[in-house]
Amino acid sequence: MEDTSFQGKRALVTGAGKGIGRAIAVKLASLGAKVYGISRTQSDLDNLKQQVPSIETRFVDISDWDNTRKVVGELGPIDLLVNNAGITNWTGFLDVTKEELDNLHDINFRAAFNISQVVARGMAERGTGGAIVNISSIAAMRVVPNHTCYCTAKAALDMLAMTLAYELGPKKIRVNSVDPTIVLTELGKRGWSDPVKKANAIAKIPIGRLAEEEDVVNATIFLLSDKSSMINGAILPVDGGMVVSCV
Ligand code: NAP
Repeated sequence: MEDTSFQGKRALVTGAGKGIGRAIAVKLASLGAKVYGISRTQSDLDNLKQQVPSIETRFVDISDWDNTRKVVGELGPIDLLVNNAGITNWTGFLDVTKEELDNLHDINFRAAFNISQVVARGMAERGTGGAIVNISSIAAMRVVPNHTCYCTAKAALDMLAMTLAYELGPKKIRVNSVDPTIVLTELGKRGWSDPVKKANAIAKIPIGRLAEEEDVVNATIFLLSDKSSMINGAILPVDGGMVVSCV
């Protein structure tokens, strides 16, 4: 049975132009939420709007702190927030530049901090509560080669979910993280299309396959819904058991 707790709810999804964020935005709209989708490629936003006309789109680069605050603040009340937008790089620690580190942390971590602050302030002032889900990664918990910037940013994002769960719980705002393994979105394909690399990754997943967008959507929808009303500060791997292994 579909969850009906999204009727009348207003949701914001970052990185809604492609991949996981787009799938979450489309699902939330299908479950009755009024959805706002943010991304930074206008053509993606245009075809998302064409696919689901009820979704409101905003062109924002969330690495721009001030403009992001302005645009998010102008959306009006938001009940559900999905901090999904993210990027990766493949640079060994010794070669990482300051610009690369800043960019990875600005988009994967600081933007979620920034947007959550604006949205949660509104939730707290209205006294209506709400739910926030961060789309993090199992790279927050385990090392992925040449991913120092990404792993550290996602680890910070997981801790943000825990600190906000603690601080905002008394205001009836729940905050959780969803931590997927590899999903072959555009981002995923850039790192894992090579058949040998992909097979090696799958060999480490007890379930024996990579994650699908739908797996991440289902976990996110659950954590946004009233069915998870006692779950706050959880870090939920969507990884087929990958992180429980030590070999
Ligand atoms: P994706 O296919 O590349 O989609 C990411 C979306 O976020 C795109 O629409 C992208 O827009 C947008 N975005 C990126 N930077 C942005 C910025 N500065 N401002 C506004 N929008 C921005 O990636 P995905 O695989 O769906 O990833 C979604 C989330 O899941 C990310 O946080 C990622 O770290 C996480 N994740 C992914 C995997 C995986 O294997 N795919 C695994 C674990 C976790 P543009 O395309 O215009 O840049």
